Amino acid sequence: MSVFSGKRFAVVGLGRAGMPAALRLRELGAEVFVWDDTAASRESAVGFTVARPSAIAGRLDGLVLSPGIPHKLPGPHPEAAWARAQGVPIIADAELLYQAVRGLGSKARFAGITGTNGKSTTTALLAHILTMAGVPNAAGANLGPAALSLPVLPDEGVYVLEMSSYMLERIETLRFDAAVMLNLSPDHLDRHGGMAGYEAAKREIFARQDAGCTAVIGVDDAPSREMAAWLHTLPARVVEISGQGRLTGAKALPGAHNAQNAAAAAAAARALGVDEAAIMAGIASFPGLPHRQQEVAVRDGVRFINDSKATNADAARWAMGCYEKFVWIAGGVAKEGGIDDLAPFFGRIEKAFLIGQDGPAFAARLGAAGVPNEVAGTLEFAVPAAYAAAAGCGVVLFSPAAASFDQFANFEARGARFAALAREVAPWRG
Ligand code: ADP
Repeated sequence: MSVFSGKRFAVVGLGRAGMPAALRLRELGAEVFVWDDTAASRESAVGFTVARPSAIAGRLDGLVLSPGIPHKLPGPHPEAAWARAQGVPIIADAELLYQAVRGLGSKARFAGITGTNGKSTTTALLAHILTMAGVPNAAGANLGPAALSLPVLPDEGVYVLEMSSYMLERIETLRFDAAVMLNLSPDHLDRHGGMAGYEAAKREIFARQDAGCTAVIGVDDAPSREMAAWLHTLPARVVEISGQGRLTGAKALPGAHNAQNAAAAAAAARALGVDEAAIMAGIASFPGLPHRQQEVAVRDGVRFINDSKATNADAARWAMGCYEKFVWIAGGVAKEGGIDDLAPFFGRIEKAFLIGQDGPAFAARLGAAGVPNEVAGTLEFAVPAAYAAAAGCGVVLFSPAAASFDQFANFEARGARFAALAREVAPWRG
């Protein structure tokens, strides 16, 4: 396997995506240099040439930058700035996967999924439907596993890739046979220089699509509808989808947001040739993803719902819409606008317990609207207090509407802590 022989790549950021990328590129014949700003990560890259890209003599064919490291805004990493100045392409690992798969002669098809919210769910659901239909598939990229750690699939196989806006800014030849754009709301605007830059990045999911390709687009928000109008001027077949339709018999997919995800996964599966019966069976048997409206404990009729993945108000809104009345745990590092957009759901909150850096700001906003609330500070205080307050309504919803990094390594760690605390006050029912 030497599709990349003679090529020279630098991999910067040796985390979840970086290390597998370095290993795979080397396996495929490339000369690989690695760099990480953290000494411990550099030391773990045994067997690789450790060097700052800017210090490497000779030509470089590409810089693979961890998705978490900016190459433009709010400020480029110095090595990324160097690469841009030198004309060294900054490439996503998904692009290199595509080049490798084609280089190895496989005609496997590619499905790409993006949007502000619902990407992971839709990616996992589409992969599940394909599995149910007997189609060889491999899912990953933003969701993990990293794109370059996925296996080489046969011609009839399908890659299902969750594409973040950062990754989409770093693809060059990757063409999705089926591309999905679910929805758009303000997120990560600092990295894209505003909404226009964010939308431009998302449009890249449809780049290079021809008449044989399918573009699936959600039409439940105004910016997405605009994108749909633009799509109709391009050659790909356009399928508009909405979460307004009815979704029955899918236990792990509650709410209109999941109806949107299911409609999108079904449209993509159809485009890839899966029959209706297999699509329905796949949706019905989907087990769901952790940290997305996941019931983690039940005690005395009180259900504990872990929706730690809701790192912005828009994501939290969908979960809040699923319960008539609930005790809400929220807070962390707020996004632009805080919880203002959630005001239509304030009437459903029995009482709110706020945590983290922006807990006090959320409390002030809720207090001004007459919603009973308490600043709890941490989950350790919030969970038992919420349980005590939930006797009447039966639901404790942890849907933070804020990022986790003030108190946790990531949303997974935050959700795991919530689940553990919920189980302490609430042992699993046998
Ligand atoms: P992503 O991978 O885009 O972050 P996930 O599938 O992990 O999306 O879902 C993240 C959160 O967003 C979930 O906790 C849920 O509350 C919310 N969500 C899921 N699907 C949608 C959707 N289609 N529209 C809006 N919010 C959604």
